Amino acid sequence: AHLARIEAVDEKVHAFLHVDREGALAQARAVDAKRAAGEPLGPLAGVPLALKDIFTTEGVPTTVGSKILEGWIPPYDATVTKRLKDADVVILGKTNMDEFAMGSSTENSAYGPTGNPWDLTRIPGGSGGGSAAALASYQAPLAIGTDTGGSIRQPAAVTATVGVKPTYGGVSRYGMVAFSSSLDQGGPCARTVLDAALLHEVIAGHDPMDSTSVDVPVPPVVEAARNGSVAGLRVGVIKEFGGEGFQAGVVQRFNESVEMLRELGAEVVELSCPSFTYALAAYYLIAPSECSSNLARFDAMRYGLRVGDDGSHSAEEVTALTREAGFGPEVKRRVILGTYALSSGYYDAYYGSAQKVRTLISRDFERAFESVDVIVSPTTPTTAFPIGERVDDPLAMYLADLCTIPVNLAGNAAMSLPCGLAPEDGLPVGLQIIAPALKDDRLYRVGAAVE
Ligand code: GLN
Repeated sequence: AHLARIEAVDEKVHAFLHVDREGALAQARAVDAKRAAGEPLGPLAGVPLALKDIFTTEGVPTTVGSKILEGWIPPYDATVTKRLKDADVVILGKTNMDEFAMGSSTENSAYGPTGNPWDLTRIPGGSGGGSAAALASYQAPLAIGTDTGGSIRQPAAVTATVGVKPTYGGVSRYGMVAFSSSLDQGGPCARTVLDAALLHEVIAGHDPMDSTSVDVPVPPVVEAARNGSVAGLRVGVIKEFGGEGFQAGVVQRFNESVEMLRELGAEVVELSCPSFTYALAAYYLIAPSECSSNLARFDAMRYGLRVGDDGSHSAEEVTALTREAGFGPEVKRRVILGTYALSSGYYDAYYGSAQKVRTLISRDFERAFESVDVIVSPTTPTTAFPIGERVDDPLAMYLADLCTIPVNLAGNAAMSLPCGLAPEDGLPVGLQIIAPALKDDRLYRVGAAVE
């Protein structure tokens, strides 16, 4: 049924870069065979899922939305891919994304944009717009995204779906193509809080293949999602997440959510986190710096595309020609920015300062979590903007992640879930819930209560 749905609507939506029809049917048949033989089934047996094209899949193309990996077939599965298969999930295919997960609209994909199922002329968010659009257009009931600065939560917000960025280290990064390693985190996307929790439980947990994977028990997310409640909970509202640049309808729906939390018995506390003002600036030094280092591996020798290898060019020239042809403008912009920020003479002024700001942001969170259990905010300042509106204005594009980025810098956990439609344009608004690191279950407890 899901493959038929993809066939019927994805020409318009363009959520998928690759539909693995044969693979999906084979996985589904294997589940049927197991069931018929009375063998034990995985926890998500037979449930279809759309996988962001940033996770390696053995024998199935993985492009990361880039021409530089066009035609590359990974020889191994990411840990997330493997855990999905072990849970008997049926992987439908790979979803569209901004190239190397750099973007907030999926317009930076080298394979063309994805439409927002609520209005196909608008962006579905990014970088994981394909995964969110697949959910919102009922092409898949579950999806996987990655969130470096908001790429799970912002697409969830603008498509009225649920997206969770787990605590940093909660989900293995092994086989997840690296953008900014100290920020990147894979996580679940779904249409309900409980669905997200069921998926979260399957993909989370310690992995010796990822040195930053945390070796602690997975927080009780499913139990929390089944027992939504906020009675007696202290909920923080951060002063800095609001004001100029926030759409009126977004603020209105957010305020109504806060009111609902109060009615359900939560104590609402207003807080100030002054360092958050500098989060975007710090992120756009740290993330490009790490990306300039991570993307050095795309040298035309090891993976994918190779341009100019005709005997008339040196190896160095082949690398340069390949990168010129294979990387899009946003990726080039970030590699150049990052290389500059890390260069001797500028390192302390840019990268060093950004790291100090990162510490201040973590401290602001720590201080906040001394007096509250969770923090809430709008996920994004505005609803989905029209495709094309911000492509020539990177700074306007970067603002989409104003409220999500501080969470990645501190390594905390956060969820976005739908909180109604903005009255002025009828488009979805997202509510963000933020919990301290390793307390991911709180997101689900609160999310299930207000869903
Ligand atoms: N939009 C942000 C960026 O462009 C975040 C992307 C992400 O979370 N992968 O970097």
